[in-house]
Amino acid sequence: MIDLHSHILPGVDDGAKDLEESMQLAREAVKQGITKIIATPHHRNGSYYNSKDEILKAVERVNEELFLENIQLEVYPGQETRIYGEMVHDIEQGELLSLNNDHKYIFVELPSNHVPRYTNQLLFELQLNGLKPIIVHPERNQELTEHPEALYELVKNGALTQVTAASVVGKFGKKIQKFTNQLIEHHQTHFVASDVHHVTRRGFHLKEAYEYIDQEFGSNWRDLLFKNPQRLIEGKMIHYEEPQRIKRKKIFGIF
Ligand code: FE
Repeated sequence: MIDLHSHILPGVDDGAKDLEESMQLAREAVKQGITKIIATPHHRNGSYYNSKDEILKAVERVNEELFLENIQLEVYPGQETRIYGEMVHDIEQGELLSLNNDHKYIFVELPSNHVPRYTNQLLFELQLNGLKPIIVHPERNQELTEHPEALYELVKNGALTQVTAASVVGKFGKKIQKFTNQLIEHHQTHFVASDVHHVTRRGFHLKEAYEYIDQEFGSNWRDLLFKNPQRLIEGKMIHYEEPQRIKRKKIFGIF
């Protein structure tokens, strides 16, 4: 199993505090059945700034330690960048880190309460630069939960999305779980990942999430989502279906 989103690097953000906590997360990942994990530290989110070079070095350091401690997990580089106006410019300057540093897919985090007006245009320009944007945890964005059609537009225009495993299994509450299920059902999400920060406080839940999807949506659906991270890490095109609009339930009597 592959996990695309984690805060496993030591002392760089609100994830693992030190190398010891990184190793705890790594052991827990192995227990879940994870063999490869992308480290995606927060970047430019108002609290944390993690440059490409710093991340690449930290990933190397963690992989060395995993080898020394004989933990069967491989860490790949990535970054969770909060959307900002000059993103495309900075990518052209080689300043941002794509997933697995191979200039194919890049994480884009929206602010938690709204969707900036320039989002659609920016995600389009990223694609013109040969990068597929992956919007991380759209199910936790307040504007999107209230106006899901805004996400449909972004996905229709080529953006990919990643939902958080904990949202799938209801750890962020019923409302977020329901929206997450709708995103899966309407082909508006392409990946499930842990966004793990801490072994107990914000754990993996990835195994449970795939089991949940298997039960609720069937094994074909589960397989599609399960295989996409593998395809991504190998630099291949991922599989996806045409997104569908989430229909609001009509109020009885107003048909
Ligand atoms: Fe994250």
